[in-house]
Amino acid sequence: AARWTHVGVPPADPILGLKVVFRQDPFTSSKIDLTVGAYRTNDGEPWVLPAVRVATERLLTADHEYLPIDGLPAFTRATQRLMYGDDVASAVTVQTLSGTGAVRLSLEFLKRFFDAPLYLPRITWSNHFNIARDAGFADPRTYAYLDDATSRLDFESMLADLDAAPDGSIVLLHLCAHNPTGVDLTLPQWEILADLFARKSLLPLFDSAYLGFATGDLDRDAKPFRLFFEKGLAPWACVSFSKNFGLYSERVGALHATVRVEERDAVLGHLKKIARAMYSNPPAFGARIVSTVLEDPDLYASWLDSLHVMSDRIFETRGLLRSHLENATRDHDWDHITSQIGMFCFTGLTKSQVLELREKHHVYMLDNGRVSMAGVNTRNVEPLAAAIAAVLE
Ligand code: PLP
Repeated sequence: AARWTHVGVPPADPILGLKVVFRQDPFTSSKIDLTVGAYRTNDGEPWVLPAVRVATERLLTADHEYLPIDGLPAFTRATQRLMYGDDVASAVTVQTLSGTGAVRLSLEFLKRFFDAPLYLPRITWSNHFNIARDAGFADPRTYAYLDDATSRLDFESMLADLDAAPDGSIVLLHLCAHNPTGVDLTLPQWEILADLFARKSLLPLFDSAYLGFATGDLDRDAKPFRLFFEKGLAPWACVSFSKNFGLYSERVGALHATVRVEERDAVLGHLKKIARAMYSNPPAFGARIVSTVLEDPDLYASWLDSLHVMSDRIFETRGLLRSHLENATRDHDWDHITSQIGMFCFTGLTKSQVLELREKHHVYMLDNGRVSMAGVNTRNVEPLAAAIAAVLE
């Protein structure tokens, strides 16, 4: 007899599900994939970073023994320095199953040991809501982020919402290159926010999926975390190396928890206990690649170059898309295309326009109008702008 009739088919994931639909679209020569946030070259191809290629060759003879529960020590040390600079004494770090795993592990810990509500930006990476719910935050609260009318940050409302949060709440912040909006706080705004966090003892949980990818400059991108750290706000960070190393499938990430020295053993011990039950220990290969690159001066320099290559291409493509849209449309302001930063462009298109683009023009972006800029290139930018213009008429 059928066992699973009560289960029902859940809705497809709004990001990865769309990628499947794209693959099935038979218009192979003209369809445009702007869905998943993975870097592509101007030829539309994935890019293995040169430093990653060299490190991979060096690792071909590595063994396949288990890593410790908290990961490869050389990796956790090197990734701490990326986030904290040299001041790592109060960092507890666990290697995680990429950024997703870091968010999950942190929320599992916080649910068990920190009795406080969780706040997410009202608009955010859709998986944040899934992870929060599965970690036991049944009804995550939200704070204002984007002003829909202008596609700019609504900083006043953001401050007001967080001011109204119970003292001691957990607040997830995007470190840089906010997904999906591409809209970040300015440094003076981060300063104001930090003062609010101090006054209300809020726990800052930085999602850092795009370190170095926003501006191409690691220190600049890490600044909000360091500012909160220097102000004594004990920030946590969920770090992904998917985008900045192009290691999407290797699941390389880290959770950094800033704690007092006397709290280290307890916090690390419980993070390890949770990880042991969820997946036992993390995969080694990607972490070895990252630590090899971070510890070798030549490979490190090559990686910094690659960060610039990727972020520069995104900057240039934004300019190109904006000028093509300005040519193709009348009375539309496309300034936000170039003022936003990072892999994503929040077009401001409505859901019905997005669906029309998909059905009539074979252009695939998320229902909320988010475009992965990595999918735009010199070949498809003109037809893309023409298609957007057509649905705006
Ligand atoms: N957080 C944000 C905001 C993201 O955009 C992503 C990936 O798209 C992630 C976390 C996690 O990615 P991964 O688990 O591949 O590192």
